Parts: sequence; structure tokens; C-alpha cells
Amino acid sequence: MTSTKVQQTSEKTSEWWAQGVRFECQGSGQCCVSHGEFGFVWMTLEDRRRMAAALKMTTSAFTRKYCLMTDGLYRLKDGANEACVFLKEKRCTAYKGRPTQCRTWPFWPEVMNAKTWKTEVARFCPGVGRGRVHSAQEIEAALAEQRRSEEILVSGG
Ligand code: SF4
Repeated sequence: MTSTKVQQTSEKTSEWWAQGVRFECQGSGQCCVSHGEFGFVWMTLEDRRRMAAALKMTTSAFTRKYCLMTDGLYRLKDGANEACVFLKEKRCTAYKGRPTQCRTWPFWPEVMNAKTWKTEVARFCPGVGRGRVHSAQEIEAALAEQRRSEEILVSGG
């Protein structure tokens, strides 16, 4: 999606987040621990390549060491206590190369409705309501990136 298109969309949005959403990561590591349906970190080929490069590994070695396949899709392995394998002492040890869904959190299509945001996201993510306001335009860009990644994932990429 081009920035022009994002701008056009944000001018029209009547979503609950039209005035922006205050959010700043507090480094809790909460989003890196399994929360029911938000439990897996899905990996497109692009995600695996980026993460492998950040860890100075080949993509195939990275995939063998850190990924599993579930329902025909790659995801990161779990570490201790249902946390992501890269979470150590509440910190992502592969932050620079983190996958798309970690970059776009918490602005995912499936949680950006008022009810889910309030009852699920705001309950476990201490970054909600903190820090700077993310504009509707920024949120739409994150949503578009996440949607694109999900489409690539299910199409086998
Ligand atoms: S890759 Fe990093 S940011 Fe993403 S879930 Fe794992 S520890 Fe968290």
C-alpha cells in the first residue's frame, strides 16, 4: 500500500482508533508468551530470511534450528514456559531481525476491534495506554503490513 493510499484511507476511517491509540512497548515480554490464539509466531520466508541474516545464519540452518511446521505453516519454536524461543529475561534476543507480527503488534487486524482490544489486548499488554499516540495512518500502515504478511504466509510464502 502506498503512503498516498494510507493517507486517503485514514481521512475516511470511522474506526474507534480514528484519533490514534496510545501505545509504547514496556518491555514486559508478555506478547512473546503464548496467549491462546495469539500463541504462535508465524514465519513467512521473508521473516525467516531476515531473522537468519540478523543471526548470521543461512535461512535453512535457521529454519531447522528455530522453526516448526504447524498446519503446513512455519512458526518459531517455543522456549521455556510457552514463551518464544528468543525471549530471555523478558528481552527479545533477536530484536533486530524480529518477524513481521512482532513488528506490527499490537496493531493486528484480528484485535483491532474495540471489544477485543479492551477485553484481551489491554488486559495483558502493559504498553496499551502508555507513551505516544500512534496515528490512524500509522495504525493503518501496520495493519496493511500484517495483512500482507498473513496473505503471503497462507499462500505458501
Ligand atoms: S521473536 Fe522476539 S519479539 Fe518476537 S515473540 Fe520472539 S522474543 Fe518476542
